[in-house]
Amino acid sequence: MGEGLLFIVSAPSGAGKTSLVKALLERDAELSLSVSCTTRQARAGEQDGIHYHFLSQDQFRQELAEGAFLEHAEVFGNFYGTREADVRACIAAGRDLVLEIDWQGARQVRERFGAAISIFVLPPSIQALEQRLRGRGTDSDDIIAGRMAQARDEMLHFGEYDYLVVNDRFEMALDVLAAIVTAERQRLSHQRPRLASLLGEIESNH
Ligand code: GDP
Ligand code: ADP
Ligand code: 5GP
Repeated sequence: MGEGLLFIVSAPSGAGKTSLVKALLERDAELSLSVSCTTRQARAGEQDGIHYHFLSQDQFRQELAEGAFLEHAEVFGNFYGTREADVRACIAAGRDLVLEIDWQGARQVRERFGAAISIFVLPPSIQALEQRLRGRGTDSDDIIAGRMAQARDEMLHFGEYDYLVVNDRFEMALDVLAAIVTAERQRLSHQRPRLASLLGEIESNH
């Protein structure tokens, strides 16, 4: 059947990555989302096992020592990590998977999965980014100031990604993301195992 594709989506906090990926998953039944582990506090409305696996610092350190993480990073003073077993099980089953991770994690995943496709979501301006962070209403002024500073650092890594998507008009950015996923699925290397029967027929008929 062939392995599923691995998509990495990164963005500065507030660029709209979470909203875009959520909408993409609603549109595309073939895509799954990797649920990360984090040591940060759950925000109002976030559910353990759905938005994140919320772990204590001790639990996180133990899994890290056991080598459970495909990648991990410290972001805004909290630890985040992706469990390797979950990723491998998903793509081995032929399902396409999205990782919503920061640039440090993206680097680690590229080293381990050369075929990973990475997408960086940019806000239309720095000012728009700050407005969105404030508008979301989930973080205090201190946290927002910290996230804005880190956002600038994060954005400097845009050059490491395969695709840049500007999230100005949401629906347009969503269409672009969906188009990238669709195009990547038509690559020869991806199609060959999936179209084995058709391609075999073509090759045996010449
Ligand atoms: P995180 O800090 O990386 O987790 O960023 P989030 O994904 O949690 O949220 C960033 C902000 O962008 C939030 O306040 C969202 O509500 C906002 N946002 C996302 N999509 C839209 C949209 O389509 N329209 C508007 N107006 N705001 C959006
Ligand atoms: P991220 O996951 O990158 O931090 P979110 O998805 O939480 O970002 O989006 C941040 C805020 O900006 C949210 O309040 C969201 O509704 C809003 N937002 C996202 N995309 C747009 C857009 N294209 N135009 C205006 N606001 C947006
Ligand atoms: P938030 O706390 O706002 O949900 O996420 C903050 C940052 O952590 C985002 O930049 C997000 O991409 C990153 N992040 C979330 N999960 C992971 C993960 O599993 N690994 C890594 N490396 N970064 C993550």
